[in-house]
Amino acid sequence: MRTIHVMFDSGLTSLERESIRDGLIDFKERFPNKDIVNYRSRQWSTGSSYCSADWFIRQARLKQAISGSGLNVEVLLDLMREDPGQKAYPHIDVLFTSCDLTRRGLKTCYGATSDRFTVQSLYRYRYLRLDDRIALIKWTLWHELGHMLGLSNNIHCANRGCAMHQGKDFDETIRFAREMTRTNRIYCPDCTKKISYGGNTMRAS
Ligand SMILES: [Zn+2]
Ligand SMILES: [Zn+2]
Repeated sequence: MRTIHVMFDSGLTSLERESIRDGLIDFKERFPNKDIVNYRSRQWSTGSSYCSADWFIRQARLKQAISGSGLNVEVLLDLMREDPGQKAYPHIDVLFTSCDLTRRGLKTCYGATSDRFTVQSLYRYRYLRLDDRIALIKWTLWHELGHMLGLSNNIHCANRGCAMHQGKDFDETIRFAREMTRTNRIYCPDCTKKISYGGNTMRAS
């Protein structure tokens, strides 16, 4: 069973950190067999390679060799893939950042997920109402965990009210996230089953 490593950069507010933590607690309640750690979020001050979200972000900025606010999400994903710790101990990596992201060919980038790595930006959620912001942070966490553990990247669930159902746009996704908070539901029974068994080796078909 692969451990889920969650890390966030030092720019996250306490509300954002708490929303992630609450989302993880809700997830863990449904999947007690999944191991979750976030030891790399506290090591902001150490500059050690691969040891903190801030290190990944600094390194990505150096690699992309441009200043400005947009951080190339693909450079970040590559760095996570290159982490020597992945070879010794393959794990799922979740990185939350306060930086705005960019991706080739996209006007707006909220995040990206590839295989067992995900980078998600909370930057654009900061313009939302407080309750929507909290709901959407949790939805993002659950949705991307679902992709890494059970449903591959382009597969979504047909059941409305399931975190793996994809809204047609940002506004609809916010509505789904709100609904989830109201009903205290995360995944439908089908997705729950897939996620329970997912994340072991290669994704089951
Ligand atoms: Zn998706
Ligand atoms: Zn579902």
